[in-house]
Amino acid sequence: MTHHRANGCRQVEQGTAVGGGVACGYARVLERRARREPRRRVSPQDRDQEKKRLCAAVEQCKKQLQETKETIDAGETDAASILDAHLLMLDDQAFATQINACIDEGRNAEWAVRHTIDQLKAQLSTAEAAYLKQRAEDLEHIATRVIHALSETLQPEESRVRADLPKPTPSTDMAPGEILVAWDLSAADAITALSPAVRGLVLAQGSNQSHTAIIARARQIPAVFGVPNIVHRTKNGAPLIVDGLTGSVVVHPTDAEQCDAQSKSERYRSFSTSLNSRLRCTNDDIRSVDGTTFEFSANIDTPEEARQVAAMNVRGIGLFRTEFLYLSKRKKLDEDTQTAAYSDAAAAIAPHPIVFRTFDLGADKLPTGAPISAGSNPALGLRAIRLANVEPELFRTQLRAILRAAVHGNARIMLPLVTRLDEVITAKTTIESCCAELEREGLSFRRIPIGAMIEVPSAALLSREIAAQVDFLSIGTNDLVQYTLAVDRNDPQVAHLATLLHPAVLRLLEICAKASEDTDISICGDMAGDPVALPVAVGLGFQSLSIAPRLIPFAQETVRRLDVAEAQSIAKTALAMSSAAEVRTLVWRRLHNRLGDLWREQGVRSPQFDNGNRASTQ
Ligand code: PEP
Ligand code: MG
Repeated sequence: MTHHRANGCRQVEQGTAVGGGVACGYARVLERRARREPRRRVSPQDRDQEKKRLCAAVEQCKKQLQETKETIDAGETDAASILDAHLLMLDDQAFATQINACIDEGRNAEWAVRHTIDQLKAQLSTAEAAYLKQRAEDLEHIATRVIHALSETLQPEESRVRADLPKPTPSTDMAPGEILVAWDLSAADAITALSPAVRGLVLAQGSNQSHTAIIARARQIPAVFGVPNIVHRTKNGAPLIVDGLTGSVVVHPTDAEQCDAQSKSERYRSFSTSLNSRLRCTNDDIRSVDGTTFEFSANIDTPEEARQVAAMNVRGIGLFRTEFLYLSKRKKLDEDTQTAAYSDAAAAIAPHPIVFRTFDLGADKLPTGAPISAGSNPALGLRAIRLANVEPELFRTQLRAILRAAVHGNARIMLPLVTRLDEVITAKTTIESCCAELEREGLSFRRIPIGAMIEVPSAALLSREIAAQVDFLSIGTNDLVQYTLAVDRNDPQVAHLATLLHPAVLRLLEICAKASEDTDISICGDMAGDPVALPVAVGLGFQSLSIAPRLIPFAQETVRRLDVAEAQSIAKTALAMSSAAEVRTLVWRRLHNRLGDLWREQGVRSPQFDNGNRASTQ
């Protein structure tokens, strides 16, 4: 395609920043929003035929995904595991049974697929956890793929409908310099569509944590998702700027904007290339400028991620959110299955430690068909360690599996959402009783360190007493902010109030740091990876940090540039302040010289211009 600067009106759209840097190029608009799939009632005698049609469509989708998998380079482990997850979903017997049940109610196959997927998505819609949001998006992509495959089997008189259906496989003949603009793009399609020729990606749908986002970032393609009007407002060939750092998309930019974007893009590329090569391939200790050593570990949700982070410069896994293993299966996990999964993860990161947090279920992480109810106020209800009392078998099975897996690595157990000292004491007794049981049964296991999470103000205030009972503490700042500031993590209306730099949160962190002088303490909540809050955490005395893998290189570089005495002086001033805004301005003013370029690369804005895009540190 040849590009000429079609005249058009300059327009700026704001979406979710996905990362990958900044791109200037020309729009290639791939699809319009899908019309609704055909719906008709199916008489009882035609239902078996409809099920056969479904079965053939699912087989065809599996074949397409297998073919895509064969095109992936050996190093692209993310892409391969995403395709495997899609294949697993298509193979899931419970999923097929649910769709067939809809056909038995008289719906045609396309309608049955849509109905089933919508029901499954509704169960996930309130989830705040990134993993579950990601799963809802995967389900939608699978629905699109299967419905499209079903359309291939439509009769000629229904072909108009086929033309309206979304195409699951976008064209791959992108010309160099083109920016893909689409309604949505599944991860499987992203693997084939995001060739090296593609300069950027803008989607009307999608979230920062989706699998498509992971692929775009891994291929360093600047991307912005969640721009609802982009498909309608952009014509093929229109010049575009995609800023994956701030989430802005400019259609028909001015010459000056193009020039700026070009230099921002080049700066980002050389910066992230040197950062990644320096930090990924080294096993050096991470030290601040004054020589203080910091320990970095990773937060993971699946055993596969343990293998991936083993290649990074980390000292272990500081948080394995084991509940996602449970939630992804839609059924109770037996002890052997859990033992195998935990053993895999422990072996992958050995000899470094891996912290298995026991199931943090309940509230927004309630499995389908769970024997517990969310209650009228789920965040304050039956969740996390509280479930150990009402579902003792669930707890004991998991503990036994962790203790057994511990022989394959350096495992630790961590208790989530502790609010009372007796919860820790009772859990320790239960762990000891599981050890005794395993001994009697002659199964190999290992007694391992036990830790507690500090995620609510009562635990922070009791951190000295809790520390005396355990081998380590880890601070979950995400929940600590939620419970200290009475801000629901899942409610977008109040998300901007969830501020890590609120002096009340900082004062609780100070209590924890002081209370645990003789106990290992780390931060595993988002504060450890937040570009502005991390220096304050360092100043409060935290030197062990567990972070989402993709944020680790930036956090390590942040720490390398800090002087601990200076961070301490900033933290001391911050503790005496009365608002998060003041603290943010303080950090900005004191550290801009050291960290300004890192902040810019991560899309952090100056306090006076901040419009709420980065709510976490305001
Ligand atoms: C936290 O609350 O900060 C934490 C690490 O746990 P999660 O985000 O899984 O609730
Ligand atoms: Mg938490």
